[in-house]
Amino acid sequence: MTAPPQPSSVKTLRLVLGDQLTADLSALRDIDRDRDIVLMAEVASASSTVGYHQQKLVLIYAAMRHFAEQLRADGIVVDYVCLDDPGNSQSLGGELERAVARHGPNRIVVTEPGAHRALVAMRGWSTRIGLPVFIRDDDRFLCSHRRFADWAQDRKGFRLEHFYRQMRRDTGYLMDGAEPVGGQWNFDHDNRGALPKGHRPPARLRFEPDAITTAVIALVTRHFGDNFGETEHFGWAVTRRDALEALDHFIAEALPDFGRYQDAMQTGAPFLYHAILSPYLNIGLLSPREVCDAAAAAYAQGAAPLNAVEGFIRQVIGWREYIRGLYWHLMPDYAQTNALGAHRPLPWFYWSGKTALNCLHQAISETRRNGYAHHIQRLMVTGNFALLAGIEPAAIEAWYLAVYVDAYDWVELPNTHGMVMFADGGVLASKPYAASGAYINRMSDYCAACRYDPKRRSGPGACPFNLLYWNFLEVNEGRLRGNARMAMPYKNLDRLAPAERDTIRNEAQAFLEGLTQAPAEAAPSPPRQISMDL
Ligand code: FAD
Ligand code: SF4
Repeated sequence: MTAPPQPSSVKTLRLVLGDQLTADLSALRDIDRDRDIVLMAEVASASSTVGYHQQKLVLIYAAMRHFAEQLRADGIVVDYVCLDDPGNSQSLGGELERAVARHGPNRIVVTEPGAHRALVAMRGWSTRIGLPVFIRDDDRFLCSHRRFADWAQDRKGFRLEHFYRQMRRDTGYLMDGAEPVGGQWNFDHDNRGALPKGHRPPARLRFEPDAITTAVIALVTRHFGDNFGETEHFGWAVTRRDALEALDHFIAEALPDFGRYQDAMQTGAPFLYHAILSPYLNIGLLSPREVCDAAAAAYAQGAAPLNAVEGFIRQVIGWREYIRGLYWHLMPDYAQTNALGAHRPLPWFYWSGKTALNCLHQAISETRRNGYAHHIQRLMVTGNFALLAGIEPAAIEAWYLAVYVDAYDWVELPNTHGMVMFADGGVLASKPYAASGAYINRMSDYCAACRYDPKRRSGPGACPFNLLYWNFLEVNEGRLRGNARMAMPYKNLDRLAPAERDTIRNEAQAFLEGLTQAPAEAAPSPPRQISMDL
């Protein structure tokens, strides 16, 4: 075992955050194993208003503990502060101060965090601690801040498709010289299949908790047992080795059909053909380049078709990098907008899952059980409802940040604020992703088991998504009718007879008023007002 360096000889204190579990992290790159110390700390701070899903806490703490072991095995001295260590100040700044007092370093090195507010706090550390603090770029992404700023400069709109083509050229994925392989940049039109009846997607690869993870589950149950979600079904990888196995499993079992069923939803099949890799990418156990390399290799070997591989690579080098680029380019002002003036509180069933709307019940129940829902459930079920019902953007953003194991500010915020809520007025999406029950009925089997009828626009048993959809168009007419991409929805609205419009408006209002009155039996204990500060 490596002896800890004596205080006077410690040169650099290197801080590694819970989503920075990467061996060649910029903050670790030039480490001096004889003189430097790595600080890792599990801290709970009251910086956020809602409690994280219990599986999210287990995933991060367990992955941190395994990563610390890996660093130690590599001869690096790690000062690791556990959540319930006596004296833990439960804030990163506080733990840094305590570690400086323990080790007497002459400088601090850290990689930039994934939240703007954390970066602002970090910039104040030097003054607070009285030592130089070097904040290095997080270069675990394929597009640097500078590259994104160059692309965004002088553009009127930031459209994914333009960015994606640049990323294909920059990375060379699926390129044949200057042209896209297959003669097309995007095969999305092939990717809209509903799942055939009785079709069984591949089983998800689960990882049995080892002794370290089992101890973390007990810790989380003790301290955060009232938080949203459960730990019983915890099966996430918490080491790089297991995350690589999850990648291999995806490439072999799911990638070939990834594209075809990308937009499908099915009861009892929460993962379908999705990668289930975002939790590992976002904490650094996998890199975006290696997951794209693996998908591109599967295509080169004839093991997966082009529409699937292009679709997957687009999600990673396109959407993921674009979302991150926009976040850092536009924060902090980006989070402050509320273009549709939405102010309704979040209905309680987002926490309990108890609602008669079967699509919402299914998506939220799966989220409680797994800490995961796939993109179409997030966008077209929980997100679509929040948009149509006019939920306050900050309230639904806090929910997404709390309940998904892959959620970090840089990725959750633009997806929710821009893509789902249109709160940025069209910076990210050219029109709101508003849809009636017909879309959910087409892409899922949820409606067949629902007490509402997706084909009814109004009257008894009408699907609330239908009422809210038409109501949304009316309420936001002043803001949206001029949008060329909304021409068709408004044409359809204009076709409704005035009497039916009145009925829809009245029924939508009554439904919305009922939302705030949650039945007493539907309310479990509220989520704890505590969350983790990475
Ligand atoms: P797949 O569907 O198999 O996609 C493959 C990979 O592409 C993902 O692992 C992910 O890294 C990347 N990706 C795909 N779409 C996006 C996207 N829109 N933004 C960023 N990366 C993308 N993703 C997160 O990682 N964290 C979040 O907090 C998050 N919040 C979201 C909130 C809302 C309202 C919506 C609509 C989407 C959100 N997403 C978020 C994007 C997307 O839903 C998830 O990345 C995806 O569901 C993760 O599951 P998967 O690995 O099986 O992804
Ligand atoms: Fe959802 Fe409406 Fe279908 Fe019920 S009928 S599952 S509420 S879309």
